[in-house]
Amino acid sequence: MKKVALLGATGSIGAQALEIISAHPELELVAAASGSQPIDGLAPLTQVGGDLTELLERAGPDVVLNAVVGFAGLPATMWALEHGVDLALANKESLVAAGELALDAKRRGGGRILPVDSEHSAAFQCLEERPLETVDSLVLTASGGPFRGRSRADLGSVTPAEALAHPTWNMGPKITIDSATLMNKGLELIEAHFLFGLPYDRIEVTIHPTSIVHALVRFRDGAALAHLGYPDMRVPISFALTYPHRAATPIPALDLSQGLILEFFPPDEDAFPCLALARAAGEAGRTVPCILNAANEVAVAAFLDGRLPFLGIPEVVERTLNAIEGPAARDLEELTAVDEEARRVASAQTRALVHR
Ligand code: NAD
Ligand code: MG
Repeated sequence: MKKVALLGATGSIGAQALEIISAHPELELVAAASGSQPIDGLAPLTQVGGDLTELLERAGPDVVLNAVVGFAGLPATMWALEHGVDLALANKESLVAAGELALDAKRRGGGRILPVDSEHSAAFQCLEERPLETVDSLVLTASGGPFRGRSRADLGSVTPAEALAHPTWNMGPKITIDSATLMNKGLELIEAHFLFGLPYDRIEVTIHPTSIVHALVRFRDGAALAHLGYPDMRVPISFALTYPHRAATPIPALDLSQGLILEFFPPDEDAFPCLALARAAGEAGRTVPCILNAANEVAVAAFLDGRLPFLGIPEVVERTLNAIEGPAARDLEELTAVDEEARRVASAQTRALVHR
């Protein structure tokens, strides 16, 4: 039996995780949490909002599936890592914001991170057990989102409803907007750097519209391993929760009988500046990725609220990055202070942009 704590149980990942857990008698849901929606009776222990580490202390899980959205998922990530409890990580924002601190906690706790983000689950499987010096580079694929192929000029007046219509994945609103701006791939670039220990110049992003190839690893001998499958998050969720057993899922095997054409294109960094902003933030290190993430959370919320145009998202992020230095953070308190400062600056920049 594996005791699972599911954080973010009412979300897109949460609902798919519940399906996987109920299909496997060896997975026991011991605790569940949501941000605001009621979840009475979903698990023996439940919590709505508040400090999720209290729930984790009481539950004593074998694995924490962190499917909270945003920086709010950070304490749970740190708790699992400090306690050496397996962390099935969907909440990429926590690793982006707290990369170094999270890796320190992981070293102290001695546990594992099992990525749930599909690209990282794929990369983890291509890389597994292979020495890093044999790796040439990692390629993360991106669908390109609903605005793939549009120029910057075409993006000025797009609405939240248009941005929420993702072509290949059905996800929560925040990550769907991140996919439309390509910030999602920027966050994933930083996530991959911390998960796999590869420098940024050995992590590449490619646009792959059908989301069949999730990631690809090139090795020094000229071989490349790729991970293919239909875009369905139940696959990486199941992989992480049943690791290392790779339990069966209801997702069909890849069908090649009708032919399969795989296309890859370079990303358009002019129309989608978030990707380059994230790469630069990752390379800068310290708390710069934390600032990038905080500013993006503020800007995405403002866009969804109709308070900021689509192209305002990268602009708010860039202005916030330029306004704050991004000092190193020695602990969670210092990091949280930087996150809060970045949110204040980003909110002010959002208002300034709209009233211009
Ligand atoms: P979602 O908006 O559908 O769900 C978010 C969940 O987090 C909800 O259950 C909500 O109640 C909970 N939550 C929010 N704030 C909270 C708080 N302060 N305390 C406790 N719970 C809180 O989001 P989602 O699409 O399921 O994404 C969740 C995470 O997984 C995100 O970090 C996202 O980037 C990542 N992810 C999602 C997908 C996907 O397909 N949906 C794919 C890869 C990665
Ligand atoms: Mg992903």
